[in-house]
Amino acid sequence: AIRAVDECASTNSALVDHPPADDGRIHVLLAERQSAGRGRRGRSWMAWPGASLTFSALWRFPTGSPVPAGLSLVAGIAVARALESLAIPGVQLKWPNDVLINGDKVAGILVELIPGRGRTPAAVIGIGINLGLPPDAAIPGHNGITDLASHGQPPSRDALLGRVLAELHDLFATYASAGFPALRGAWMQRNAFADLPVRIEGEGSTVHGRCAGVDDDGALLLDTSGGLQRILSGEVSLRAA
Ligand code: ATP
Repeated sequence: AIRAVDECASTNSALVDHPPADDGRIHVLLAERQSAGRGRRGRSWMAWPGASLTFSALWRFPTGSPVPAGLSLVAGIAVARALESLAIPGVQLKWPNDVLINGDKVAGILVELIPGRGRTPAAVIGIGINLGLPPDAAIPGHNGITDLASHGQPPSRDALLGRVLAELHDLFATYASAGFPALRGAWMQRNAFADLPVRIEGEGSTVHGRCAGVDDDGALLLDTSGGLQRILSGEVSLRAA
């Protein structure tokens, strides 16, 4: 089910705060404008009117299944595949939740979980894709951003939404039956930092190492001087070293 609104503070917040009834469908909320789009840890997602596709999808996963691992990576694969199907070259994924074109960020993903509390647990997957940013678009503290218009004729928002939803639908089905291990290869083959030196910035600490991909839970594997370290998503950001 798809609902479109002119304006919304954050499509993720709207679905998290007021989840639609469980009718077995994936529910999508699309906003023409988001006045308070969010990223991780209180960061903001910037969108310019008519310049981006911003929507969230609420997906209920089977009751009793463990907290789904690697969901933001699965959403990244869906966006990457959708862009590739539109013949956009150079699409890569940055752990845990960014989509890049030639190293610049073209899309962001924010996954939030709604615990079951007697109902079916659910995940809200927010996706923002830059279609054609205004020439003066700037994001404080962030240099490497891009849009689809810089990489050829951008698709219409409807076409792009259709592609991303079709990919999400397929990937969720695989994920529900076989989990992230079945999709790990699809993520690894698009890893922007494969075998490259990176640093992981956490609160008050930084770990350096070579990016060795992700494990079956979607955790980042970092080859450090002290051995292989497993980094769980959350309070950390990956940066080129
Ligand atoms: P990054 O590594 O890009 O700083 P992150 O993954 O650590 O991001 P997120 O919460 O995923 O952080 O994304 C929010 C960040 O994305 C913002 O702090 C801003 O730097 C960047 N950002 C916000 N809006 C856009 C946009 N429209 N296009 C590209 N990047 C954006």
